[in-house]
Amino acid sequence: MYDFRGLGLFMSSAPIPDDEEVRLRALHRYAILDTMPEQDYDDVTALATYICGTPIALVSLVDRGRQWFKAETGLGVRETARADSFCAHTVVSPAMVSASGEVVVPQTLVVEDALMDRRFANNPLVIGDPGIRFYAGAPLVTSEGQVLGTVCVIDTEPRVLTREQIGALEALSRQVMARLELRLKVAEEVKRTDALRTAEKLAVVGRLASAVAHEINNPLQSMTNLLFMAEIAPETERSGYVAQAQEELKRVSHIVTQTLRFHRQSDKAAAVRLGEIVESVLLLFRTRLQHASALVEVVDRQAVPLVCYGSDVRQLVANLVGNALDAVNGSGDGRIKVRLRDAVDARTGKAGVRLTVADSGSGMSAATQARLFEPFFSTKGARGTGLGLWVSRGILEKHEAVMRVKSAQGTARHGTVFSVFFPLHLG
Ligand code: ADP
Ligand code: MG
Repeated sequence: MYDFRGLGLFMSSAPIPDDEEVRLRALHRYAILDTMPEQDYDDVTALATYICGTPIALVSLVDRGRQWFKAETGLGVRETARADSFCAHTVVSPAMVSASGEVVVPQTLVVEDALMDRRFANNPLVIGDPGIRFYAGAPLVTSEGQVLGTVCVIDTEPRVLTREQIGALEALSRQVMARLELRLKVAEEVKRTDALRTAEKLAVVGRLASAVAHEINNPLQSMTNLLFMAEIAPETERSGYVAQAQEELKRVSHIVTQTLRFHRQSDKAAAVRLGEIVESVLLLFRTRLQHASALVEVVDRQAVPLVCYGSDVRQLVANLVGNALDAVNGSGDGRIKVRLRDAVDARTGKAGVRLTVADSGSGMSAATQARLFEPFFSTKGARGTGLGLWVSRGILEKHEAVMRVKSAQGTARHGTVFSVFFPLHLG
């Protein structure tokens, strides 16, 4: 037990540590203050009163002007002023050096009889209600050495604790600290994935928007030209130009309605034929497909509709086809084959639909295959986001679908096959 008299702290009010602002920042990071009671912490105070034989036990956190109790047994209040706090006496930085040059390590503070202790004899909680005579507090110490508060026991009678009782109190305080660290870790993890998800969503929306804009731009341009031609052409040729312009307009409105339709479907699962989704994706990529001079073949043997989230599955298909297109691009004789068929999962025996997207592209190295689903992993430099397959994995999970990848490089039969099995029904 550390004797504060060695530091010359004769005040009755609790000392304020030197690095108090750092300590408070550490405390507030745990976001525990003013939260609802929780069984785990209530159990700790119940055990503490039992172990030490006291009527009162607290899980006390020392905030700027108050001490707040995450759990309390036998006291009936959630907070008291910091100035009168016993616990605040333990909240002295462990890095503090005493007058004799010793480093002060936070230890359990035991006050066997407050009336006999100069630091507490005038304390309002001692002279007045609830008439504290005995106090023992085991500090809650973070891994950085900050003391957040204590697990403490209080009695209105003077007391002596055995070494075992003090040891048990300290064990409880380590348990509370472990719980607080876990809470912090979970909160930070949630924050990280949230930030990542937001960034990824923005990227996907951005790509979709630019793909749509790109696809609409070409027909709009030819419409401008066709209408100009219609204007200057002799009367007899006009209707031909106008008819062509109408065709282009149809294509624009088709793209727009497709995009909107799948967008609206996003939050409700519905029975869908994947062929429709594939068709709309290919329509979206039409210009790119023409430029890549890739041959696309769709073999649709799906008879039973699939219950799925249309816009998600569309995004998945768009990414697989987009990747296949990237892979065959420039090869001149690229082939992409999309197949749909009713299937049964060999492992689970569940009925479903299998979608395969095969390309005759360059294939992937083993190193690439190992990292496919990592967010931001891309071999495409600025052209890729590396989010496509990462997003796809989330979509697969949502559908309890399983994806397999086969890829060959360098051989005569180079290329990649992505194969997805969707169970017919969710849940
Ligand atoms: P991005 O397409 O933005 O690069 P993805 O997550 O969709 O991100 O894909 C990650 C990486 O996986 C790609 O950069 C590429 O290296 C590899 N990849 C995916 N599909 C194929 C494919 N069909 N052929 C070759 N490589 C592929
Ligand atoms: Mg991609």
